[in-house]
Amino acid sequence: MERYYNPEVETASREELDRIQTERLIEQVNHVYNNVPLYRQRMDEAGVKPEDIKCLDDIRKLPFTSKQDLRDTYPYGMFAVPMKDVTRIHASSGTTGKQIVVGYTDGDLDIWDTCCARQLVATGATSEDKVHVSYGYGLFTGGLGLHGGSQKLGCTTIPVSSGNTARQLTIMQDFGSTILGATPSYAMYLGESAAKAGIDTSKLPLKVGIFGAEPWTEEMRQSIEKSLNIKAYDIYGLTEICGPGVAYECSQQKGMHVNEDHFIIEIINPETGEPVPDGTKGEIVFSSITKKAFPLLRFRTKDIGVITHEKCACGRTFVRMSKPLGRVDDMLIVRGVNLFPSQIEAVLLQENQSPNYQIIVDRSGSLDSIEVDIEMNEDNFSDKPSDIIGMEKALENKFKSALGIKPKVKLVSPDTIPRSEGKAVRVVDKRHVYENK
Ligand code: ADP
Ligand code: ZN
Repeated sequence: MERYYNPEVETASREELDRIQTERLIEQVNHVYNNVPLYRQRMDEAGVKPEDIKCLDDIRKLPFTSKQDLRDTYPYGMFAVPMKDVTRIHASSGTTGKQIVVGYTDGDLDIWDTCCARQLVATGATSEDKVHVSYGYGLFTGGLGLHGGSQKLGCTTIPVSSGNTARQLTIMQDFGSTILGATPSYAMYLGESAAKAGIDTSKLPLKVGIFGAEPWTEEMRQSIEKSLNIKAYDIYGLTEICGPGVAYECSQQKGMHVNEDHFIIEIINPETGEPVPDGTKGEIVFSSITKKAFPLLRFRTKDIGVITHEKCACGRTFVRMSKPLGRVDDMLIVRGVNLFPSQIEAVLLQENQSPNYQIIVDRSGSLDSIEVDIEMNEDNFSDKPSDIIGMEKALENKFKSALGIKPKVKLVSPDTIPRSEGKAVRVVDKRHVYENK
């Protein structure tokens, strides 16, 4: 039997959700117009007044908000309540530039915890569970986000934070963790380290993983599920909107349900800003309609995704978004071909290669070059140069047929590609070095 944390809203009819969203959107537009100078100015420039927003479609009358706007108003320019009401600050990891700062009221934190509790319940969690949080604690939202959800649900929360892998494994065994929260790349590493330490993961009480904060493929999911002997769920979020828990995967694992009573999702054509229909890829845009301290309207995430309103067998009615295919910023354009690191990862794992890889893009003269370094694993390990060259050539051809581009493949010794305890660094783009000179 499917369980929900907030059944009335998670399974509400579309009409009911529309009603909730419209009411909250109108209230939020008034709140930002009255309290955030940038929004008042932008809306005045666009000739839109709060009273022009009467239904959900009217959201399109509102201006977009960009990451640049948040950098320009750093640190507190977008805050919409007096600082005395702000009880927590977080900051983005700064993966793609200067970090941005966000704030929460007590009420905002409560909503965030609720969103994460919904994710936990969707994986089958109850207050009997022991939630081992290996996302980093601190300004990064991952650690305290899942922590809040776990506390709210009444689980036994184990705030391990990231790092010190041997200790993580000891805690997992001794404390009996049943649910693990981590970045997928760190979960991979934990699995790998458990195997090396001779730990039989099938004997551990661990049964579920909640992984997000960076792109990962279905192939990676299977590989983690096997090595840690768990069922792995995808969770999506971003600091600007609240952190993890903006969207969450259910038992069906066919996309993540967006917490629509708190966030409105739109998918737009990134070039024109126009909405695209369900099923069409585009840039994900979010509006937070209940957040008080740091509310954003039509925030362009730069993440590329697809949504569907099709009925989900789990009974939840919230719209589902696909795994983000990557960020606009991460998309590599190599010799005119658009490429996401996740596409390279999918090919590697289909070919039973190690998920420990790094992509190096460089330019000599006006020609781009791309190299994929992959660690050899137990199945294909060899120290015979002729074997290695043969495998490298075969992989190069696989890439060519799957992606339309032939990178140079280099098989490297196990354990030579740096592991990450937070978000993995998949791409080294040396071309930027030249541009900055
Ligand atoms: P930064 O932008 O500095 O990395 P955040 O920690 O706020 O800061 O990261 C949010 C971003 O992480 C999202 O915009 C998205 O690109 C990525 N992300 C988060 N969750 C997922 C997920 N489940 N799958 C893919 N990408 C994700
Ligand atoms: Zn579902």
